Amino acid sequence: MNQLFAQVALPVPMRSLFDYQVPSSLQCSIALGMRVLVPFGRRKLVGVVLGLSPDTELAAEKIKTLETLLDDACVLSDLTLEWLNWASQYYQHPLGEVIHTALPVSLRKGQPAVRQQKAWQLTDAGRDTEPASLNRSPRQRALLERLASAPQPHALLLQDFTSSLIKKLTEKGLVEETYLEHLPDPDWPARIELADKPKSNLEQSLAVTAIAHGSDRYSCFLLEGVTGSGKTEVYLQAIEPLLAEGKQVLILVPEIGLTPQTVQRFELRFGLPVGVLHSGLTDNERMLVWQQAREGELGIIIGTRSAIFTPLQSPGMIIVDEEHDSSYKQQDGWRYHARDMAVVRARLEGIPLLLGSATPSLESLNNALSGKYQHLSLKSRAGGAQAVRHQLLDLKGQKLEFGLATAMQQRIRQHLQAGHQVMLFINRRGYAPALICHQCGHVEECRRCDRSYTLHRSLNKLQCHHCGDAKTVPPHCTQCGHVGLQPVGLGTEQLEQGLSSLFPGISTVRIDSDSARGKDKLHSLLDEINQGAHQLLIGTQILAKGHHFPNVSLVVILDVDGALYSADYRAAEKLAQLITQVAGRAGRAHIQGELWLQTHHPQHPLLQDLLHNGYQHFARLALQERRFAALPPFSYQALFRSEANEARQAHEFLMQVKGLLAGRQGLTSIGPLPALMEKRQGRYRMQLLLQSEHRTGIQQHLHGLMSQIEKLPLAGKVRWSLDLDPQDF
Ligand code: ADP
Ligand code: ZN
Repeated sequence: MNQLFAQVALPVPMRSLFDYQVPSSLQCSIALGMRVLVPFGRRKLVGVVLGLSPDTELAAEKIKTLETLLDDACVLSDLTLEWLNWASQYYQHPLGEVIHTALPVSLRKGQPAVRQQKAWQLTDAGRDTEPASLNRSPRQRALLERLASAPQPHALLLQDFTSSLIKKLTEKGLVEETYLEHLPDPDWPARIELADKPKSNLEQSLAVTAIAHGSDRYSCFLLEGVTGSGKTEVYLQAIEPLLAEGKQVLILVPEIGLTPQTVQRFELRFGLPVGVLHSGLTDNERMLVWQQAREGELGIIIGTRSAIFTPLQSPGMIIVDEEHDSSYKQQDGWRYHARDMAVVRARLEGIPLLLGSATPSLESLNNALSGKYQHLSLKSRAGGAQAVRHQLLDLKGQKLEFGLATAMQQRIRQHLQAGHQVMLFINRRGYAPALICHQCGHVEECRRCDRSYTLHRSLNKLQCHHCGDAKTVPPHCTQCGHVGLQPVGLGTEQLEQGLSSLFPGISTVRIDSDSARGKDKLHSLLDEINQGAHQLLIGTQILAKGHHFPNVSLVVILDVDGALYSADYRAAEKLAQLITQVAGRAGRAHIQGELWLQTHHPQHPLLQDLLHNGYQHFARLALQERRFAALPPFSYQALFRSEANEARQAHEFLMQVKGLLAGRQGLTSIGPLPALMEKRQGRYRMQLLLQSEHRTGIQQHLHGLMSQIEKLPLAGKVRWSLDLDPQDF
């Protein structure tokens, strides 16, 4: 036989494929997209075959032979490989790691991709036995006859026969165990049972019709609808004709634990089981949904971020609910954005993509306003719930305890005494400490940029993250002379401990992504809250998503200023989304909700605009500001991060990266600067921001750069990463 070499993608941080010789015994069965087990150093790794060729550039003595073929059919389709290849180039992340991320854990570990079930079948002797010869035992005869037609899976056979009976025939040598490959069951479209649905209002009908017109090709829709305006109802009606044709729908949601009702609504509407994918599942559970989706057996798959990699046999539509949500961005390793991955996937698959949100991201809104996406809107609430009253509490000069003003504490007490629950929000995302005068509200700003400085406590410095200017922390307010300047949001870290002394005897619970980790943890926390086991709820972003607590009558957002004066230009957008989402929840209950914002700057134009004119108005204004400042989505960014035990090393590494980029046209680099949180777990963190007016500009400059960076002597000493379209600074 001729020689054959396989180019294999491996989960290693190297930007190349690896050549292996294919043993002659495997040459007929190997194909692109299959997994193989190969020797790599002293380890054995699972990789995916991306090329087959009669030649290799490797020297004969270096070439190793691949060990086994793990599949008898490809696990990744050509189209998926094309998609992942694009992603690898766009995000500048090694293809092997990208592919690895896209596979379910069981497949990464080398487990078989076919779903095998234990089954019983007749032995040769069994087949030669006349059923009539078992006439004295009618059950044994029935079992023999049943197995004569085909082998039967364990579960199925045990419905009709006892295990002791099966054992008897096994001992007689007539029946034996075997494995059955899973038998596909693509018949679900015939089993759809439509439940009653509400009559759509005009806006909903328009949206459903528009989507139906674009449902046979790639097109992207942004469904902008206030909370409770019936977006989910639009999803349900939009996918109805697709499901009837046997097409599958993939729905991404930010956090399944908070939206079990959503899954249920889809199940009830169509009378079909829904495949659910989230981080609380075991590897096997994930694998099962992955396979059922790939074999076309599930009409609807609902999942969180990584569900975007679910293969579909007959894709019909992708829906990204709450498309603005930051959980769609992966924050370590390969930092992909699931919504952006969805756009490219939908284009490759030639199917529509539906993005829905009450508070669309400025990126998507811009695409909708510029006509790149079709813009659909729902302006009225479907349920008729009451609007929430929001109010501002001026913190200037107020006595604060654990971040709470005295007046606020009294209000909280009133609501608790009325038997209601109170939710306190800590806005951590995009949080960067600015130096603010508690007496007069003055914020130290960079004279060159009119932007607030970020306080870097461990360096005792104020730094402008726009131009890099730095100065030492002033001893008193330059406006009113007040001594003892404090960073905004001080005290909220100790809030939880403080509450028990402020509100003795009141049960408090904190819900964030740490406390809610695990499959059932979040559910049980939510149940406890709804049963009234806790009166004070401390929430982070996670609580703003899709859930509502009927007994919460007061919501307080504690540290609004942290976002208003953040060096992270997205912080204001995220705060506005948080406020709007929280207000939407609070207003759903039968109790009139109240939302309070604590701030030193109640007159801040951004806040005023949001509160008086709503998110829609605010977002369009914020887009204009971004345009003037040439910030995304009107420019494109990439962020290098580095981390080391010594600040000097982290800095030096990024200086060298900057050096490699020197003199490039159309590319601005800002930094290296300390990260907004400059020290974490004892390590110093620095960053270098690249910006270009053109997406291709960034791509061009990064092309080839990564392998140069990898050769820098410091590259092996500091922890560093590249983040394309960074969401957090
Ligand atoms: P969203 O997804 O925008 O938050 P939902 O689709 O969940 O909104 O709708 C909010 C509530 O209004 C739900 O209880 C839903 O059943 C109901 N609803 C939606 N559309 C209609 C309609 N056209 N007529 C009556 N009720 C509706
Ligand atoms: Zn500046």
